Amino acid sequence: MKLILLGAPGAGKGTQAEIISEKYSIPTISTGNIIRAALKEGTEMGLKAKEYTERGELVPDEVVIGIIKERLSLDDCKGGFILDGFPRTIPQAEALDSMNIGIDAALSIEVADSEIVKRMSGRRVCPACGASFHTEYKKPEKDGICDVCGEALIIRKDDEPQTVLNRLSVYHDQTEPLKSYYKAQGKLLTVEGQDKVSDTTALTLAALSEI
Ligand code: AMP
Repeated sequence: MKLILLGAPGAGKGTQAEIISEKYSIPTISTGNIIRAALKEGTEMGLKAKEYTERGELVPDEVVIGIIKERLSLDDCKGGFILDGFPRTIPQAEALDSMNIGIDAALSIEVADSEIVKRMSGRRVCPACGASFHTEYKKPEKDGICDVCGEALIIRKDDEPQTVLNRLSVYHDQTEPLKSYYKAQGKLLTVEGQDKVSDTTALTLAALSEI
């Protein structure tokens, strides 16, 4: 399965991606995680991306398109993949189409802005392995500690309130038009994000079974 996950930042794409990835044994490719890793390592791409991510803006298309081309050419993508956080603009979607890899579906997880703001204020991430938790909806077994690798969890700089509002407005302006783009291709699936992760997962898996 070659799947795109769409939705506002904080809509739960990352969590659903982890679940689908395990169920279908395909990798999740998150441009956000790739960019954060590059930032941490201080690579040239990371330095280029830093100012944009910290302001909650999108990194220029040519940078992320380059990242995705390289990543999708690796062997583990041959049997399918989930794209989490890419494409985020029409030019990115067009670049993906021009790679001719045959995307099966774009699944949009719909969540109201007010709910997103509430969710993001409780989001905690692991700076070491990228796993994501929530103080209310997805508690780690031990408070403040990553279940996967034991590192102390942090609040991402771009989850701070003003940045979240900025990211939401960027989402509505630049990413939401992708819903019409994929609808026109007959590939759009829509799921209403629920309060409980397991309820959203049930809807997601039901939607995917239709592909
Ligand atoms: P995410 O974790 O997916 O919310 O991504 C974090 C940040 O990385 C975003 O706010 C953007 O600055 C940048 N980023 C991730 N994916 C993309 C993309 N497809 N296009 C442009 N910028 C991106």
